[in-house]
Amino acid sequence: MKDFLLDAADRAFRAEVRDVLQRELAPRMADIEERQDWSAVRHVVRALGEAGYLRLMFPDLYQGPLVQPGLTHATILSEEASYLNYAFETTIATALSCAYPLYHFASEPVRDRYLLPILDGTAVGAICVTEPNTGSDSAGMETRIEFDARTNEWVINGFKRYISNASVADVYIAYGLTRDTGKPQDGMTAIAVPATAPGIRFPRNYTFMGRRGCIVGEVEFDDCRVPADHLLGERDGGFRIMLRMFNFERAILGGSGLGVARSAFDIATAHAQHRRAFGQYLGCKELIWDKVARMSWRIDSTELLTYRATKMYDSGIDGKALMKEAAMAKLVATETANFCANETVQILGGDGLTKEYGRAEQIYRDARALTIVGGTSEMAKYLIACRDLPDIRIGL
Ligand SMILES: Cc1cc2nc3c(=O)[nH]c(=O)nc-3n(C[C@H](O)[C@H](O)[C@H](O)COP(=O)(O)OP(=O)(O)OC[C@H]3O[C@@H](n4cnc5c(N)ncnc54)[C@H](O)[C@@H]3O)c2cc1C
Repeated sequence: MKDFLLDAADRAFRAEVRDVLQRELAPRMADIEERQDWSAVRHVVRALGEAGYLRLMFPDLYQGPLVQPGLTHATILSEEASYLNYAFETTIATALSCAYPLYHFASEPVRDRYLLPILDGTAVGAICVTEPNTGSDSAGMETRIEFDARTNEWVINGFKRYISNASVADVYIAYGLTRDTGKPQDGMTAIAVPATAPGIRFPRNYTFMGRRGCIVGEVEFDDCRVPADHLLGERDGGFRIMLRMFNFERAILGGSGLGVARSAFDIATAHAQHRRAFGQYLGCKELIWDKVARMSWRIDSTELLTYRATKMYDSGIDGKALMKEAAMAKLVATETANFCANETVQILGGDGLTKEYGRAEQIYRDARALTIVGGTSEMAKYLIACRDLPDIRIGL
């Protein structure tokens, strides 16, 4: 299926994005993967900012040719970028997740100071939720945010890990508790923290099996101080902000998974039609076309679920009403990416395991993170089942 839910303007936008990415990202893919070259990542982020693509989510700030820009277009951008290089795409997806609460919940001066440079591609953002003792159970976070009336500042103490863009981001959206209620959902607050704030530190970065070139590390807040106006939304209103941000992030992750899956699929089908074994093309063998068909219907399902979620969002549906559909897009897309990456390596045989014969091994390593980031597959299933079993209370 090709863009069944997309209209003519969406399709034209996809073609335009493809051209820009071919020009800006494709020549730098090797630098990002082989040398983990952050300056190459920054160059492409800037190019996308200049093209206006980082403003798609915010129609009043967008100045390009699209009449109704939105999440659908941001997701097309993610899909096309992930098709070429998923590690790079995580940088812009994270920047957009950071831009989202700044746009919707920051005071005007804070919004102007931090949001606009992200949208121009001259700055990068990060989101700080995960902690050593709380990952999926994000409501159980231990980071504290207290107000110092003497200096009119917020003081943050806590430790975050697995933070994309840690140490290279210019601004961090940190979540922490401002109140002990026994129900962290009621006492959580979101706050913008510039990289220059006193008391913010970046103890180390991680080495992951994939996503090379995308920097992920730890962020420590040690009596970290930010001005009073850096609070996002209301004090104690952070959990609601986080849930809305996750909806949007999960739909975008649908695009990430779809791009990775399509990339693997194209490699597998090209190989199956050229490689010969036992006197025939590989693709003529039942065990191989079975794999191709299984990949194919999963990719089409992913496309439908992903763009259903983005179209719903663009038509004004959000919050609890979008939670199931966004979770389904994320779940199916990320599982499909892993399925396709794995089957592609199998279809390529030894060629699938070495860099000498293309990107299959990279895609296989990169895809693995997808079912974990932005909420695991298990958490996505929980969100889906919650809506499907409304008469009983299911717990984690
Ligand atoms: C590459 C990468 C980038 C990341 N970027 C960011 C970022 O920018 N910002 C950020 O805040 N976080 C980030 N994360 C963290 C990510 O969101 C967490 O890793 C994820 O939410 C899972 O948390 P955890 O790793 O602590 O696993 P855990 O929560 O400890 O879960 C471990 C396993 O147990 C399962 N599990 C947990 N609870 C249950 C349950 N009740 N029932 C059934 N199964 C359960 C999970 O599904 C998982 O399979 C990133 C992680 C990675 C790997």
